Amino acid sequence: MVVNTWHQPSSTFSLDSKATRNTPAYVPFSGDNGGLKVSYHNNEDVSRYHFGTRHPMKPFRLMLTDHLVLGYHLHEKMDYYKTRRATEEEILQFHSEDYIDFLQRVTPENRSEFESVWSKFNIGDDCPIFDGIYDYCSIYAGGSLDASRKLISGQSDIAINWSGGLHHAKKFEASGFCYVNDIVLGILNLLRYHPRVLYIDIDLHHGDGVQEAFYSTDRVMTLSFHKYNGEFFPGTGNFEEIGTGLGTHHSLNVPLRDGIDDFSYIQLFQSIVEPVISTYHPTAVVLQCGADSLGCDRLGCFNLNIRAHGECVRFVKSFGLPMMVVGGGGYTPRNVSRAWAYETSVLLNVELDTQLPQEIPFLNYFGPDYSLHPNLAGKVDNRNTKKYLDNVKHRVLEQLRYLQGAPSVQMQLQPPDIEGFLEDEEERLKEERERKHEAEVRAEKEMKDRARVGELYA
Ligand SMILES: [Zn+2]
Repeated sequence: MVVNTWHQPSSTFSLDSKATRNTPAYVPFSGDNGGLKVSYHNNEDVSRYHFGTRHPMKPFRLMLTDHLVLGYHLHEKMDYYKTRRATEEEILQFHSEDYIDFLQRVTPENRSEFESVWSKFNIGDDCPIFDGIYDYCSIYAGGSLDASRKLISGQSDIAINWSGGLHHAKKFEASGFCYVNDIVLGILNLLRYHPRVLYIDIDLHHGDGVQEAFYSTDRVMTLSFHKYNGEFFPGTGNFEEIGTGLGTHHSLNVPLRDGIDDFSYIQLFQSIVEPVISTYHPTAVVLQCGADSLGCDRLGCFNLNIRAHGECVRFVKSFGLPMMVVGGGGYTPRNVSRAWAYETSVLLNVELDTQLPQEIPFLNYFGPDYSLHPNLAGKVDNRNTKKYLDNVKHRVLEQLRYLQGAPSVQMQLQPPDIEGFLEDEEERLKEERERKHEAEVRAEKEMKDRARVGELYA
């Protein structure tokens, strides 16, 4: 069995033996989730699409994830929803009409008719045309919209959509295996009720599509941890991308080098996320859990184990904010599914047996160890020195000094109403506010009455 591995001597942040002895490697599971309501949004159809045999994006990783979640009986501890498809109108809340029209019409058979717009919409090897491309997008986007809706209504405290997290998609074009940006759609929805949303991205790649969408607003803060050397896809995500206009200092980037290990990553993550939350005061968090930041990923170059990746999830959860959790990259399906099943258990505060359930379909994918926690570390040299990471932390936290407390709750950017489906909820919340106000008035009156009674007998 592989146990926690992030205080190995090779860690960038070295600990003395006393500190190591007294520092729990990870917070133990208590089985009690503090009354938190967790919902899981899934539509098994999403795993049936194929980008092509040589393409690294394999939607069947979502099916493997689901088998593990069910095999561990985690569905019994949360609301398990089959998600609907996003409507065209919802998708158009962010994306341009001509781009979405193209995605709806193009097929592998007629693709040559659209050749003149391939470059405009960035269609090519990374973002190929495949059968059912628009349906695929509308399914995973529907999951994130459903998840955001459950958070808004208060039916969920944590809402999970592993099929979402496609953070590279742009308003007018596809990018990095992403066509429709479900995260942006989910955040736009959250902004209807939440004054400030914090977006955190632990994918190997920079969360450029989300950053770009909210670059000029202070109502969303984006914080992305990723590999950066100026060339690595998507080529953005250096320190100086800090936002613009009202959004200045609301885009935070943590550029990392190859091979970062568990302990260094967790230390850095916690030392940045904690002050970001206590300075920005978000009212909701969206966490993108791209699993290509794990060690041994087909396209990856970090050394993270599943427990370390999950520790970031646990840390964000510990702030008790409404939380939308989405997937993202991840190109070694057996490890992606292990990580997301494990992170589901972290969100439920349920301890899982390291030995995978034996009765699940496709168990052979997980051999020869059949473990939830194979050792994924140590394959790449760690190029992040302590000095480098200290500097990264310093430069990122410097941005927070410019934020004078939480920004105004007044809306500089009023996101468009998505389909008007929130009207009922708006009405309900209004009634609730009125009831609360009446109750307060009544309580105040009663207090005054009691005071008067006191005067009578004084
Ligand atoms: Zn990625």
